[in-house]
Amino acid sequence: MNEVSSGTTHSIPEVCARCGTAHNISKHLVKKVWTPQWVYWGYLFGLVPGIILALIARKIHKVRLFFCTDCWRRFRMRKTVDSVSGVSAVIILMGGGMTSLAYESWIPVLIGVGLAVSVAILAQRYDRRANLQYLVLDRTNFVIDVPGYGEVTVMKLPEDITL
Ligand SMILES: [Zn+2]
Repeated sequence: MNEVSSGTTHSIPEVCARCGTAHNISKHLVKKVWTPQWVYWGYLFGLVPGIILALIARKIHKVRLFFCTDCWRRFRMRKTVDSVSGVSAVIILMGGGMTSLAYESWIPVLIGVGLAVSVAILAQRYDRRANLQYLVLDRTNFVIDVPGYGEVTVMKLPEDITL
């Protein structure tokens, strides 16, 4: 169902895609899911139609990029940071809600919301530090900015071979 684009059509510089260093680099497979914005309108018709639409319309880019040891570790940790922070935010919110009910006070809920927002902000900050710097990311283009090197076109597919 999903169109998977793989391989690279351009030569990739032999530097870390995140920090630009040429030391201790090795090639790693990166999967990046791209979902067009209009897909989210599908959720107006319900969760299931929205998810189905997103699965049909999204595209998975598979590319091989160089990373240095540190950047690759941080890059791979993003998913863990994402899920751990998501789960903790939900637990904090539920804890705040239940404490509020027990003590009949709004204060725990407000503290819970404040903490959950802080967790989300920290997670976002981590992602900005660990993630690639995308210049163009859409159905056919995968262009990143590599510090000290500049713009790198990882992939550029001709428009006509896509949906
Ligand atoms: Zn690096």
